[in-house]
Amino acid sequence: MRHLITTDDLSTKEIEALFADAETYLLKPPPKLLQNRLIITLFFENSTRTRSSFEIAAKKLGADVVHLDVGRSSTKKGETLYDTAANLNAMGPDAIIVRHAQSGTPHQISRHVDCAIFNAGDGAHAHPSQALLDLFTIRKHFKNDIEGKKIAIVGDIKNSRVANSNMRLLPRFGLEITLVAPPHFMPKTDFPFTHKIEDILDDVDIIMSLRTQTERHATPIYASLKDYASDYCITKERIAERDILLLHPGPVHRNIDIDDEMLADPRCKVLEQVKNGVAVRMAALKKLILANG
Ligand code: ASP
Repeated sequence: MRHLITTDDLSTKEIEALFADAETYLLKPPPKLLQNRLIITLFFENSTRTRSSFEIAAKKLGADVVHLDVGRSSTKKGETLYDTAANLNAMGPDAIIVRHAQSGTPHQISRHVDCAIFNAGDGAHAHPSQALLDLFTIRKHFKNDIEGKKIAIVGDIKNSRVANSNMRLLPRFGLEITLVAPPHFMPKTDFPFTHKIEDILDDVDIIMSLRTQTERHATPIYASLKDYASDYCITKERIAERDILLLHPGPVHRNIDIDDEMLADPRCKVLEQVKNGVAVRMAALKKLILANG
């Protein structure tokens, strides 16, 4: 049974093939390859983009989609997560798309079901479909010429599953990562790092800005996010005329992560990420569901 729990679940060749499919889905109406297939979305954490993106992707391929309203589900009556998953599994879905605040939950669930599990974000651990759409967007922007391109990941890296997944995925495709964050947001890794954004501006091709993950801070770290913004916000003043591709997984804290001007700047491809996300998720759903038979 194939699952997408981390980007390591796909070989480099499989990712290339997945991106080729995603390209065709962007160009012409997709074939209804998942007709009569059932996909359940199970989100224990808030989501705007990821859930709707997966649901639209599934529907575009002809699948039936059922969303379990967790707030009204039996987990609220004390049913364990695994019993919920086992009961959903008994209804015969082809895939369950799971988001949970606890790292490792999608992996645990995958051991109790016989359908594909897609990790739509688990704690600070992983968000594989986001990293795939980020890579896809980067490749498209540079017309596939990404070997040796330099990317700075800026922000609350330590608590970001998006950063974690990208730190696993992007080096496999030849991208060189530098981490930019204040000490309390900096994870321990082997990547080059700096605490000062000015250090990298003349050197990078891409900046991936991240939201401060306040929901994962045990105690408030900044009295006000404005203090963080004064050092790390991606502003027009900081970027000036440099040719830098600017990405962000959303939701953006406006004028904290990226300022209004840069959000409206053509170098900022946040909405293109969202658009590409549907195509990449279509390709991932097709790949795993059809592989599982
Ligand atoms: N939407 C992304 C996530 O679910 C990024 C974020 O929330 O900051 O991890």
